[in-house]
Amino acid sequence: MRDRKVLGQQILDHLKLYNDLGVRWVRSPEVREQAASQGPDKRNAPAAPASRPSPAAFKTMAYTSMFDQAPAAQESLEVIRADLGDCRRCKLSSSRKNIVFGSGNPRAELMFVGEAPGADEDDQGLPFVGRAGHLLTKIIEAMGMRRDEVFICNILKCRPPGNRNPEIDEIAACEPFLFRQIASVKPKVICALGAYGAQTLLRTTEAIGRLRGQLIDYRGAKLIATFHPAYLLRNPNEKRKVWEDMQVIRQYLRSLHRPE
Ligand code: SF4
Repeated sequence: MRDRKVLGQQILDHLKLYNDLGVRWVRSPEVREQAASQGPDKRNAPAAPASRPSPAAFKTMAYTSMFDQAPAAQESLEVIRADLGDCRRCKLSSSRKNIVFGSGNPRAELMFVGEAPGADEDDQGLPFVGRAGHLLTKIIEAMGMRRDEVFICNILKCRPPGNRNPEIDEIAACEPFLFRQIASVKPKVICALGAYGAQTLLRTTEAIGRLRGQLIDYRGAKLIATFHPAYLLRNPNEKRKVWEDMQVIRQYLRSLHRPE
């Protein structure tokens, strides 16, 4: 009886999140399985392929084209992690418990990039595992994907003490590893989570409210900025804007699999 009550509450919580996000329908697991069985390149295939826009139909912000550098030669994530080693390249090494390298599909089409690990991530050595991470997982699932289908990491691999903002020398020391991760995974879309992360990646002071929702050419992929899940926990009314951004991602990924 108690199990049924717990399950009922979990379902209610889930539906409430979907409602907050503005989700109006969900694809059944059977339909999703069917799409997956059509092959890895068609895993995002919608029910009505003929209506998909072409990738060129998506507006791209032009002013950031200076960041659209060619990705470096591809190397495996294992090689990059080995090179990072027990990193002491910046002062965060003295206070961290664990390096949080990132996790997920090494061939993901979608990569989420946050700012830096928090306390839970530092404890476990995994990205986005606290309350904000739990919300991110739910958002990914609401997109019709699994968390292990995407790749999740941060600009900094070590926790800044007290969750303070990263400093310039720390970003300079750690960011090359993120760029190598991007070149290795070769995502089609990079979703920058949070104002600070997006501004750092794009070298801009533009407000997240102006950056979000736009596809920006970035290192051979499209970058889209959106609010950080931790911000959403404090401002649940903004969930719908994040969902709008996730729709842009989903539609762009689908457009890449558009039948000719
Ligand atoms: S934040 Fe990055 S550069 Fe600094 S110690 Fe950690 S892994 Fe090394």
